Amino acid sequence: MRLSRKQMIFSANIADLIHFANSVGVGLTFGEAYRTMYQQKQYLATGKSRTLNSNHLKRLAVDFNFFIKGKLTYNKKVLQSIGDYWESLHPKNKWGGNWRFRDTPHFEMKE
Ligand SMILES: [Zn+2]
Repeated sequence: MRLSRKQMIFSANIADLIHFANSVGVGLTFGEAYRTMYQQKQYLATGKSRTLNSNHLKRLAVDFNFFIKGKLTYNKKVLQSIGDYWESLHPKNKWGGNWRFRDTPHFEMKE
């Protein structure tokens, strides 16, 4: 599948994710989506990321901030249903909240 096609599926899945989160009382704001290699190298150097192979470089990842009743949270237990929903949308969708290097804001589609 062409990368652009996959990017479109990813973006449509993100729309569904936002609606789902809102329906369960979680408001989302965007963090980072597309990231340049220059930025990625800085993140690797400063420990903010552990890879130069991030899906942010391919427009296949986005980070969100989560608000419940106006209060910011990144708590995995609180957000698990949103992560589960994301992974149910497409077999290649992965939620960073399930990783060993926990990254609850991060939603991606594997290449
Ligand atoms: Zn991310």
